[in-house]
Amino acid sequence: MAHTPAEGSEGTETPGACRFGPAVGLSCRECGQSYDLGPRYACELCFGPLEIAYEFGAVTREAIAGGPPNIWRYRGLLPVPANVADTPNTEPGWTRLVRADNLAKALGMRALWVKDDTGNPTHSFKDRVVAVALAAARELGFTVLAAPSTGNLANAVAAAAARAGIQSVVMVPADLERQKIITTAVYGGTLLAIEGSYDDINRLASEIAGEHEDWAFVNVNVRPYYAEGSKTLGYEVAEQLGWRLPEQIVIPIASGSQLTKVDKAFHELAKLGLVEERPYRVFGAQASGCAPVSSAFRAGHDVVQPVRAETIAKSLAIGNPADGPYVLDVVRRTNGAVEDVSDEEIVDAIRLLAATEGIFAETAGGVTVATLRKLVAEGRLDPDAETVVLNTGDGLKTLDAVVDAVRPTATIRPSLDALRGAGIFDRQGHQERAGLE
Ligand SMILES: *Cc1c(COP(=O)(O)O)cnc(C)c1O
Ligand SMILES: [Zn+2]
Repeated sequence: MAHTPAEGSEGTETPGACRFGPAVGLSCRECGQSYDLGPRYACELCFGPLEIAYEFGAVTREAIAGGPPNIWRYRGLLPVPANVADTPNTEPGWTRLVRADNLAKALGMRALWVKDDTGNPTHSFKDRVVAVALAAARELGFTVLAAPSTGNLANAVAAAAARAGIQSVVMVPADLERQKIITTAVYGGTLLAIEGSYDDINRLASEIAGEHEDWAFVNVNVRPYYAEGSKTLGYEVAEQLGWRLPEQIVIPIASGSQLTKVDKAFHELAKLGLVEERPYRVFGAQASGCAPVSSAFRAGHDVVQPVRAETIAKSLAIGNPADGPYVLDVVRRTNGAVEDVSDEEIVDAIRLLAATEGIFAETAGGVTVATLRKLVAEGRLDPDAETVVLNTGDGLKTLDAVVDAVRPTATIRPSLDALRGAGIFDRQGHQERAGLE
């Protein structure tokens, strides 16, 4: 690869191993070929995707617990420098794990938690992956942070670049939710609305990456580093459960990267002795309007056939998911499943989560909760086992999904008579309106 800005961009050359913490190299996920750490992402022998290889030092629960209340508490497990917390970034992570007894009751379950990633700086899980990508991009000498995005990634990249004081270029489908366009544009940076699907934009990004070697496309040419950021979701769930793995976890699938990395995180924690080894089941969730991985799972296939996406869950609308086959591996190995749900079920689940737990999820959260609901109803997920469901984004960014489904209980004049006339204290009627029955 001709990329060189890393060399000479710093006064003194630091050995690669230090600049990327415990990461020691890159290895091909298909053929196992090893490479030095650098700005590469595809295997030169088989074009397979590259992944970070580690040699972990001593990592203890105490050292982690003594770290900052964000993803950098796990810096000893990530491809970032030891002093990563000293450089401006968005400091995402350490979001709340909510014990969801009301939702559990509504679904007939016993022990359920919602990992609520709306608490991140730009209100989605994407801040995690971007923070790691930004830290790595700095070490690799890139000068521009870029991304093709289904929306949340654009928010996260624009915000992180603004805080780091570097340029950003993000590209989104022109028909994206208004909220996600505004919440990206506000950070400054370059925002390109592209008349095409996410898959069209992703292809364009790969072409641009070939021409602009100083641009870090976080999910393309910096993808091996970026993807590791998703491990922090798994680390946090385990730490917040009191250093224990859940028995079941339900994870949304766009490219599928997040799902595979949560599994990787659980595996690492057990291997490092930070949690007790325990069988766990990983379940993947998709929208029926974009369900290539779910279809492959159902058909028993190892390859994922690309589809044209058509769903309200736009943050998950990737018709050609890069990590699809790896998702199938994880789900089959852990005795889980991939399932998909209709747009109507997504909206119902958004309302159910809001009405039971006070959490307003974006469509992706509606997808995971609806999938959980469906799997429990069909007896494919154990209602008695400890279960975590991920809510990866904020409902305020996908208001259009629910705008026709919810409204004021009544609109009345400011008088007691009007209040009585509206009959809103008829409890049954009230609950019906809340969608709870
Ligand atoms: C991007 C995204 C995901 C899934 O990410 P992948 O790692 O690409 O599968 C899930 N939820 C939300 C809200 C997202 O924006
Ligand atoms: Zn290879």
